[in-house]
Amino acid sequence: MTERHATARVRHELRRRLLTVKTAERLTPQMVRVTLTGDDLQGFVSAGYDDHVKLCLPFAGQDAPVWPAGPDAPALPEGTVTSPMRDFTPRRHDPERGELVLDFAIHAAGPATEWAAIAKPGTRLGVAGPRGSFVVSDDFDWYLLIGDETALPAIGRRLEELRADVPAIVIVTVAGAEEQQTFQTATRLDARWVHRPLDAASDPALLLDAVKSLSLPAGDGYIWIAGENDTVKILRRHLVEERGHNRSWIRAAGYWRKGSAGFHENHNEG
Ligand SMILES: Cc1cc2nc3c(=O)[nH]c(=O)nc-3n(C[C@H](O)[C@H](O)[C@H](O)COP(=O)(O)OP(=O)(O)OC[C@H]3O[C@@H](n4cnc5c(N)ncnc54)[C@H](O)[C@@H]3O)c2cc1C
Repeated sequence: MTERHATARVRHELRRRLLTVKTAERLTPQMVRVTLTGDDLQGFVSAGYDDHVKLCLPFAGQDAPVWPAGPDAPALPEGTVTSPMRDFTPRRHDPERGELVLDFAIHAAGPATEWAAIAKPGTRLGVAGPRGSFVVSDDFDWYLLIGDETALPAIGRRLEELRADVPAIVIVTVAGAEEQQTFQTATRLDARWVHRPLDAASDPALLLDAVKSLSLPAGDGYIWIAGENDTVKILRRHLVEERGHNRSWIRAAGYWRKGSAGFHENHNEG
């Protein structure tokens, strides 16, 4: 008999790939969707909706990324400046078409946002990973997915894969109605959008109010949260400590932090 509410960690071979942009388009005014292709995509596996790949981002004017030295990469001449690395979610992988799709939330400044803003067919990008996947069984009574723009790729992917008619509540904060996305899903979806200006993206108040005003459905539910780090911590604390949600059925991660570059922190303890 299969264990109820099982979760599993799956390891993958860690490879560095050089991929090429096939298309780059604005999904919404502040979200760029990039479709990557290339022979290096052979063998790519992404088993979990919140997997991440490490992007190795060439600077403007560079044709290809400069990877840091590593077990499968030669030592670099002294003084070599390596490309910045940032974490992104594989939004969709289609092995038959040989395509990997990434969605970039555009913000004020940073190597990833700057790369995506000018990416065009032929632009190249380094992609490493995913190193592993966290797989959550689809046998919960309901799902709650909370986040900001950076969480939308994982949320969209999860909604596409969840079983038909299961209640799924989504609470996402974005800059305005023009940033809302339409999800392809068979779930019984209750999507709630919270609007705040991009320059207030690290203020937790409105998202916290929206979560506080939600009555959690009866039965066993799985909650997933990602976005600005302090906001994620506050939301998780509210759900675990004030609402008493089972801490094994909640997964939370800081996807960025105000004032920090390339930040990532998991909050699954405590
Ligand atoms: C596991 C994981 C998966 C992720 N998946 C995605 C994804 O699919 N799509 C996506 O868009 N992002 C995703 N992110 C978030 C993304 O990695 C960060 O936003 C990253 O900081 C962007 O890099 P950058 O080079 O643009 O900015 P950085 O150089 O890292 O940061 C520069 C400055 O911008 C600020 N900043 C960073 N991100 C934001 C933001 N979103 N809004 C406002 N200010 C910001 C920082 O605080 C910093 O002050 C993910 C993060 C993790 C950890």
